[in-house]
Amino acid sequence: MKDSSCIFCKIANGEIPSSTLYEDEDFRVILDLGPASRGHALILPKEHFADVCALPEAWAAKVLPLAARIGAAMKKALGCEGFNLVQNNGEAAGQTVFHFHMHIIPRYADGPQMVSWTPGESTPQELAQTAEAIRAAL
Ligand code: AMP
Ligand code: ZN
Repeated sequence: MKDSSCIFCKIANGEIPSSTLYEDEDFRVILDLGPASRGHALILPKEHFADVCALPEAWAAKVLPLAARIGAAMKKALGCEGFNLVQNNGEAAGQTVFHFHMHIIPRYADGPQMVSWTPGESTPQELAQTAEAIRAAL
């Protein structure tokens, strides 16, 4: 299903032009308009799924191989040394467009610096309680 009010549905289906790197029956891969680095791309499914929890397994299974293929092409074409796959789910996680997308962000030796986290501390009891809480919800 498409959502007529969703900009990524329109881009994925070619109703709004984009810098397209790749397209098949199910996905379009475009350059991000506000790139974190040169070549920053987004994998968009052509159907509307709000986030990874709404993405059917058959679609999800195609996303990582496609991301790997695009990332490998970036290394060849752009000379990046690596790339990050980033996928935000929910406003608290930084999601701003509520149509599933996977970021592919090339990383170069001279930057950019990317946000990272400072490792915190935990206790075996806290880890056990947290693991139990998540297990019980699976
Ligand atoms: P997120 O914060 O994970 O929801 O990422 C949304 C991304 O979409 C951001 O990196 C934006 O720069 C990018 N973006 C928003 N609108 C467009 C657009 N029309 N074309 C290309 N990228 C877009
Ligand atoms: Zn959509």
